[in-house]
Amino acid sequence: MSLEIVQIKSLSGGNFSYLVFCPRSREGMIIDPSFAAEELLARAAEKNLRVLLVANTHGHRDHTEGNRRIMAASGALLAASPLDLPQPDIPLAEGSVLKLGEETIHVLHTPGHSPGSLCFLLPPGDLVTGDTLFVTKAGRADLPGGNPRELYASLKRLAALPESTRIHPGHDYGPSPVSTIAFEKEHNPYLRCADVEEFIRLRMG
Ligand SMILES: [Zn+2]
Repeated sequence: MSLEIVQIKSLSGGNFSYLVFCPRSREGMIIDPSFAAEELLARAAEKNLRVLLVANTHGHRDHTEGNRRIMAASGALLAASPLDLPQPDIPLAEGSVLKLGEETIHVLHTPGHSPGSLCFLLPPGDLVTGDTLFVTKAGRADLPGGNPRELYASLKRLAALPESTRIHPGHDYGPSPVSTIAFEKEHNPYLRCADVEEFIRLRMG
């Protein structure tokens, strides 16, 4: 049995939040509460879940908004990169793992949009990508701490995942709310650049 994923969109900013849970143990985690804290808590209660963790894909305010509300209501611990958020309860880096019941979530460090940007890989084939990879688009690299060369390397790495991997992005910026690596390799211009120079022209131009 694998983890289940509920995607919730905030009206403000088109942010996507995720409620991830193990259907057997009823242990859950919320990724990027954004402006949907109340709805996430309601959905977790409806499903009779214990929310153990709040995790952030990165430290930008539109994603971390709602952290405190979820933590206060559930007692959840904060899991994030210390490169983006000061002193999280559970500091995450490349290779970190999180457990929900019997299920394991793998952490990929994918810098470029921000120094501590992370993606969460939920086996067998779901990837929560934050603001690194969107459906047909990519995150900005011109914000403080952003780095287009790092972002290019992170996107190349994601593009090398199995083509059936499903993409769950941090904003609703594309023609559909989710996609796959196969779809992105075909339709995302940022994954189709011939080299890093072309990517930088497209991303920073
Ligand atoms: Zn961001």
